[in-house]
Order: sequence, then structure tokens, then C-alpha cells
Amino acid sequence: MKQTEILAVGAGPAGLTAGIYASRSGHRVLVIEKSFAGGQMALTSEVENYPGFSEPVGGMLLAQSMEQQATRFGCEMLNAEATGIAVTSGGFEVKTTAGPVAAETVIVCSGVKPKRLGVPGEKELVGRGVSYCAVCDGPLFKGREVAIIGGGDSALDEALYLSNIAARVHIIHRRDEFRACRFAQQRLRERNNVDYHLSCVVDSFNGTQRLENLTVKNLKDASTYALPVGGAFIYVGWLPNTGWCSNLLALDDDGNIKTDDRLRTSVPGVFAAGDVRNTPLRQVATAVGDGALAAMCAHDFLIGKR
Ligand code: NAP
Repeated sequence: MKQTEILAVGAGPAGLTAGIYASRSGHRVLVIEKSFAGGQMALTSEVENYPGFSEPVGGMLLAQSMEQQATRFGCEMLNAEATGIAVTSGGFEVKTTAGPVAAETVIVCSGVKPKRLGVPGEKELVGRGVSYCAVCDGPLFKGREVAIIGGGDSALDEALYLSNIAARVHIIHRRDEFRACRFAQQRLRERNNVDYHLSCVVDSFNGTQRLENLTVKNLKDASTYALPVGGAFIYVGWLPNTGWCSNLLALDDDGNIKTDDRLRTSVPGVFAAGDVRNTPLRQVATAVGDGALAAMCAHDFLIGKR
């Protein structure tokens, strides 16, 4: 069985930073990741508020740099998905798709997954016009019309990205006001290929083989209309990835892992960092701060144990 002192589950900015700090402190560290380094950050077209970069930096590029930085200090990476966790006499056993891993301490950095809208046609047309990732699928819609659903920073940032590719971007938001920061709203207003459908929701995604149009409902007068778009990008929030550890760790009412100010969870020896925990701000900068703090608290835990 693979053994490590510190196991970080998830290689987003929190997990990679935990890897950098913990391995630089001389610990044996393993970071496991089910897909690729960077998590949601890697799927972000441009990160422009992470300090140290005066110009926007690609999320994937930033992820690759963080991973290289972690491995330079000896942090080991493993491509696997965590599927369960149990307490053992020596610490913890985390079940993964690459076999079990024994760890003295665990830092949960498993991040979030996109929330579904839950309307007819969404599930059937995922990958056939309905998407949760503009960076991944946006280029397929070069010169065509697309829709973005949501009014937060993710929706508006990715609408801006898509406005460089698509002929027209329709933003469908359930209120008249956006949750996104004013800077993002202002930049989008400067684009002349963006249409706003405010106080509107999607009633259904329609199409047989592929998405052909959306049925949009205006919440003010209950009128509906068909919006002919080939691509629809849903950014209506996120759900924490805790299915593999919810048997062990206390969660809040929204399913986030409960942590204290030293990022300790309800189980001694398990820490949580980044978007997966009950945090008031979900940013690359806060995830990085969490990763550093969790690594040093895991270090203190190991010292205390010996
Ligand atoms: P978010 O802030 O939670 O926004 C979700 C959006 O989806 C809101 O506009 C919400 O509408 C809408 N929504 C939620 N459920 C819906 C439903 N069932 N039907 C229709 N609309 C629905 O999520 P986010 O934009 O992904 O941002 C998450 C966090 O990451 C935030 O803290 C954000 O600031 C941060 N972030 C920051 C940046 C950046 O700094 N550049 C980029 C991306 C994300 P209401 O507004 O009506 O609730």
C-alpha cells in the first residue's frame, strides 16, 4: 500500500500549495488528483486578480507552474480519484481508484463541481451543446450564437471570454442585477455582441441530436420565447466534492466541510482547504492561503504526535 505522511486530496490551488509548503518543510507528501492539476482554476480562461501578475494569466498555465513548483520540492503527484476514507491506528486510509493510500494526516482539497440547473433537456444535451466549461467547449462555437446562464463572476468572466469567439453571447440571468463585480460588468458592457435576458430563466434545453434552442421564460410577465443557440454554458454556482469523505467529516447545511481557524475538521488529523470548506470567499488567492495554512497545521499535528 502507498504510504505518506501528508496526503492532499485534490490538486487545485489549495492542494498544490499544501504540496509546496508541506514538502518544503521536509515531509513526505502525496497529492492525488482525478483529472488534471489546477481544478476550477485550470478551467478559467484568464485569472486577473491573483497577485503577482500584472497582466491576466491563463488558469491552466498557473496550474502547471504551481504543480512544477510542488514537484521541485519533492511532492509526489498521483492521478487517482479518492473514493473513501477511514480512520486507522496509524492515521487514515484513503481509498482511491489507484488503490488505497495510508496517510498520517490528510488535507481535503477536493474543491467543487458545477451546480446543475435541473431543467428538462439539460442532462440529455450535456456534451452536445450544453456545457459547464467555456474554456473547454467555447472554441467549438466559433462564429456562432451561444448563451451563458448565471449572473456571478464566473458567468460574466466566461461571457467575456466567449464574446471573443462566438458571434453573439446571450446572458440569461434570473434577476435584473448581477452578483458579479462591477469591473466585470463594465468590461462586458463595452462589448457590442452581448445581449442581456434579465429576470429570465431557462425553462428547457431543446434539440434531438444537439442543442438547437432554449426556451427562455421572462419571470416578470411569464412570457416564453425560443432562443436559437448552438451552445449553452451554465454557471449557476458550485457544489462541494465531499461524497468520498462525508461519512467521516462534519459538513455545514450547504454541504461544505466545517473547519476552524486552523482549518481543522471535525476529525483530528484531517484538515480542509479551498473551495470545499465553509469559506466566505472562493478565490485562487484564498485557496492558496488555505493550502499554506493547512500544510503548516498538518506539520504541527505530526510534530505533536511524535
Ligand atoms: P455565484 O457567485 O454563486 O453566482 C451564481 C449565479 O448563478 C448567481 O448569479 C445566481 O443568481 C445564479 N443562480 C444560482 N442558482 C440559479 C438557478 N437555479 N437558476 C438560475 N440562476 C441561478 O457563483 P460563481 O459566479 O461561480 O462564483 C463563485 C465564487 O467564486 C464567488 O465568490 C465569486 O466571486 C468567485 N469568482 C471570482 C472570480 C473573479 O474574481 N474573477 C471569477 C469566478 C468566480 P443570483 O445572483 O440571483 O443568486
